[in-house]
Amino acid sequence: MPEPLREQLIDPVCGMRMNPEESPAVTSYDGRSYYFCSDEHKAIFEADPEKYAAIARKAETGQ
Ligand SMILES: [Zn+2]
Repeated sequence: MPEPLREQLIDPVCGMRMNPEESPAVTSYDGRSYYFCSDEHKAIFEADPEKYAAIARKAETGQ
């Protein structure tokens, strides 16, 4: 499975750019990984993953 470029990874809850190696929280949804600045934001994502996954895709593709 192709990984997105590291600099494109964002925390979809707050929009912060994340380095996967330094991210304190990670989850998987719809076949990919999402990285978060905190467990709190991971929990927010997991409460409504479809919404935040869409935000992440939009942010990462610029569309
Ligand atoms: Zn965050």
